[in-house]
Amino acid sequence: MAAVPRHIASSNRPIRSVRRASPVATQSRIARRYLTWHEVPTVMSECLFCKIANGELPAEKVHDDGELFAIKDINPAAPTHLLIIPHRHIPTIADLDDETAGLVGRVYRLAADIAREAGAADNGYRVVSNCNRDGGQTVYHIHFHLLFGRAMGWPPG
Ligand code: AMP
Ligand code: ZN
Repeated sequence: MAAVPRHIASSNRPIRSVRRASPVATQSRIARRYLTWHEVPTVMSECLFCKIANGELPAEKVHDDGELFAIKDINPAAPTHLLIIPHRHIPTIADLDDETAGLVGRVYRLAADIAREAGAADNGYRVVSNCNRDGGQTVYHIHFHLLFGRAMGWPPG
């Protein structure tokens, strides 16, 4: 039989004395149990890109058509590194559905327009979206990196 840890075996405190969790703590515990970890911060008020979208946080915006906006990446990985971001909060590209999938085509058209206007279309550019931990996603509101101004390596790191 497995040994009972001493602090549990010797405890004679009545169960009643266990502190009750607040409703909020209980709710987030339930969320953690039923949602994968990246889905928990879908509360838009806590989302970095929702805050940029609604002007709560500053960013260098280069485009906004009401559905998609584009900002300069704060930590550029190429001479031009923009993020194309839907206003709508969708955590990952794996969360796209029939209703929202059309966004992706419009993202690629916008990327082509921006690259063309910047004179980068002929040399080329890269559009990439990272999904979840192994994909390297760090902000859980879908976005598409648009990079140009240098030759890109392959495969990515
Ligand atoms: P990912 O790691 O694919 O989720 O991409 C998130 C990107 O957001 C990274 O390239 C970051 O450099 C960028 N980023 C993080 N915070 C900001 C910010 N406040 N303004 C602009 N870009 C940001
Ligand atoms: Zn968001």
